[in-house]
Amino acid sequence: MRTINHFIGGKEVAGTSGRFADVFNPATGEVQAKVALATDAEVDAAVKNAAAAFPAWATTPPLTRARIMFKFKALLEDNADRIVAAITSEHGKVLSDAKGELTRGIEVVEFACGAPQLLKGEFCENVGTNVDSWAMRQPLGVVAGITPFNFPAMVPMWMFPVALVAGNCFILKPSERDPSASLLIADLLKKAGLPDGVFNVVHGDKTAVDALLTHPQIEAISFVGSTPIAEYIYATGTAHGKRVQALGGAKNHMIVMPDADMDQVADALMGAGYGSAGERCMAISVAVAVGDKVGDAIIDKLAPRVRSMKVAPGTDPEAEMGPLVTRQHFEKVKGYVDQGVKEGAKLVVDGRSLKLQGYENGFFLGGCLFDNVTPEMKIYKEEIFGPVLSVVRVPDYAAAVKLVNDHEFGNGTAIFTRDGDAARDFVSRIRIGMVGVNVPIPVPMAFNSFGGWKRSLFGDHHMHGLEGIRFFTRLKTVTARWPTGIRSGAEFVMPTMK
Ligand code: NAD
Repeated sequence: MRTINHFIGGKEVAGTSGRFADVFNPATGEVQAKVALATDAEVDAAVKNAAAAFPAWATTPPLTRARIMFKFKALLEDNADRIVAAITSEHGKVLSDAKGELTRGIEVVEFACGAPQLLKGEFCENVGTNVDSWAMRQPLGVVAGITPFNFPAMVPMWMFPVALVAGNCFILKPSERDPSASLLIADLLKKAGLPDGVFNVVHGDKTAVDALLTHPQIEAISFVGSTPIAEYIYATGTAHGKRVQALGGAKNHMIVMPDADMDQVADALMGAGYGSAGERCMAISVAVAVGDKVGDAIIDKLAPRVRSMKVAPGTDPEAEMGPLVTRQHFEKVKGYVDQGVKEGAKLVVDGRSLKLQGYENGFFLGGCLFDNVTPEMKIYKEEIFGPVLSVVRVPDYAAAVKLVNDHEFGNGTAIFTRDGDAARDFVSRIRIGMVGVNVPIPVPMAFNSFGGWKRSLFGDHHMHGLEGIRFFTRLKTVTARWPTGIRSGAEFVMPTMK
């Protein structure tokens, strides 16, 4: 059985805890590897390595750091097939989708290549007579990223390219469910010329996470995962004096107005509802039909397409949707479908009995489509994170806006309409971090920033873009006067402009 090791101080290091987690092949249900789970001492060793590497890395010119990122980008492209294969084999998503994930990650590397420009400060001449002032951004020190299973390459790449070019040393604690991509990334960073100790990978569970959250030498924690854990990370990390950004779960609504192009709507809902088996934080899980005519049209168009969707192992080039990540997650999602039926929602397409010949032990769930879901139902309130789309019918646009604004999550949303006035009003009034107009999954590009509102994000900064640079740097403002200005003797009042 293959074991997946930590990466500390520029090399792979075997785990010493004797504790391992199973890494499955979700298409077959077999355990394909064991990943080591770190102890406090192993986390401490990684932090010490990173702390030792920090002084030299922090004083390395941003242009030199950026040049390493340029090489890293080229290596990612050269090795894309290996990374994509590792993602599909452990996560289950189809290969083309894994490739899309990697591309979105590479875009953040491209953004980070602009480090010298991004880290430029501000200079003000003569803030007082013969006094100049400037502001500059400096790295924090050793920072950590804790990431979820659903984007094993992209989500770490929302964080570390920005953190590294800003001069920080980074410790990644990837999801224990699909940990291999992180080691391929660590190897490529080393090949690109990153000094040993600047980037480390520590695998683990709650023990490793808690060790990072409480470690006195960790300055900041960047987290992406479910809301209960995000809230815990934020509370614990900040209580230990760390800067924390913690992105949580989602329940993304797509509002369909009566004037929308229904073929476009059906295409959008198929991709955004069932792509990656619904295991995306920006997946659409609720279609809000404005009026019964729209509700009927959505069901009529969608039901046959959900039934005929090609569900197959992610390595099958024809596959539109792969398996769920683990048996445990499969059972959880299936449990929500059972619950929806019990609560009285109408299950128009039932994917629970899907069996794939030759893959009987795989974690495959067929697409499920619910109609007449109401806001009181558990399947509406909670994040399911599977291939389950709920249609909620509302009488008018105002009720649709209220529904979205009243939900506890605020990650993404979209409106489909031909009415510019309605779209403009929606963009302005909706209490959600990322909004699409006729775009179902409005994931911001690398040079913008990614993040939700309400209980989808704890902390102040979104990921990557300028928000990422701000999160991973500390502002220092300098005020300077040279000898001609200090001949007048001591002053005891608060300095004001003269
Ligand atoms: P998760 O919260 O179970 O795990 C995320 C990370 O936290 C993992 O590294 C895991 O090892 C660690 N962790 C798990 N339990 C812990 C505990 N009790 N104490 C400390 N650490 C713990 O999330 P997941 O199932 O891997 O990922 C799916 C979730 O992530 C969904 O809720 C999804 O919406 C969310 N997500 C959000 C975004 C976003 O940008 N808002 C992006 C991707 C995924």
